Amino acid sequence: MKIIPSDQVIRVFGACDPVEMVQDGEEFWVECRDCYDGQIKSTKDRRSQMDTTRLMPCTGPIAVDGAMPGNSLRIEVLAIEPSDRGFMPLKPGLGILGTQVTEETTYVVPIDIQRRTIRLGRFSIPLKPLIGAIGTAPRKPVPTSVPGDHGGNLDTREIQEGATVCLPVFVPGGLLAVGDLHAAQGDGELCGQGVETSGRVKLRVHVSPEPLLRPRVETQENWITIASAPTLQEALSIAAADMVEFIRRTYQVGFDEAYRLLSIAGNGGISQVVNALVTAKVALPRNLAR
Ligand code: CA
Ligand code: ZN
Repeated sequence: MKIIPSDQVIRVFGACDPVEMVQDGEEFWVECRDCYDGQIKSTKDRRSQMDTTRLMPCTGPIAVDGAMPGNSLRIEVLAIEPSDRGFMPLKPGLGILGTQVTEETTYVVPIDIQRRTIRLGRFSIPLKPLIGAIGTAPRKPVPTSVPGDHGGNLDTREIQEGATVCLPVFVPGGLLAVGDLHAAQGDGELCGQGVETSGRVKLRVHVSPEPLLRPRVETQENWITIASAPTLQEALSIAAADMVEFIRRTYQVGFDEAYRLLSIAGNGGISQVVNALVTAKVALPRNLAR
C-alpha cells in the first residue's frame, strides 16, 4: 500500500503540483506532521517563538486519477493513528477567551494509545482522533490555515475514523492534502487548538460524478453539510441551504417540506470559531425516510 510521506507538505491549497497519484478506489496511508510542524517539543517551547511560516503543513497534494472539475471526491477515513504526544501551547489572545490568558504556557499532552485516553492534569479525556485539515485545490490558492468551499482547516469533530469526507473537485486530479491531526477536540475548538499531534491516516478515495459546492461529511448516523464564512450566522445559513438542497435532491421533495424537515430533525452546530473564517455545520439523521 502506498505511503505518502510527510516530507512532502504544502502550506497553501491550490499552489503546488501533485507529489503522488492514486487510483479511484485505492487505499493509502498519509503521514502527517502536527500543525506546529514539530516546533513544540517540550513545555519550554513557546508559541511566540515559533516560525509562523511553518505552521499548518498538510501532506500532499495527491492527485486522484480521473477526477475532473465538476466531480467530487469521496474520501473514506479508514484509520487515524495519532502519535503518543500532543501539544497545547497557549498565549494571550488565543481562542474565544484569549483576553483572559495572562501568560504563555505550553502543555505536552500524553496520549495513551492502548487505553485510548488523553491525560490533562486530573482529567482523563477519551481519545477521539480527527483530521483538522483536509482539502482539495481551490480555483484560487488558499492558505492551509483557512477553511473554505474546498475544505481545508475545517476542524470539524466528525471527521473521525469511519467518516466519509466529500469534497468538490475544482482542478484535474482534485489535489488532496491532509494534516492538522487532533487527538481530541470539542465543537468550537474554543481555546484555539485541539490536542495537536502528528500521526498517520489511512484513506480510500473515490471519484464521484456528484457535483458539490462545499464539503459534506457522512457518518454512520448523519449527513453533515459544512460551510465557512466570516460570521457564524452566515456560515450556518450556507450549511442550512446546502442541507435543504441535499434533502430535496435525495428525497425528491419541495423546498417547504425540506425546510420543515431541516428544522425538526436537523441539528445546527459549530465546528470551529477560531480560524480566519468560522465553520458551521448542519447534521441530518440518515434513516428518516420510511
Ligand atoms: Ca486546525
Ligand atoms: Zn489543529
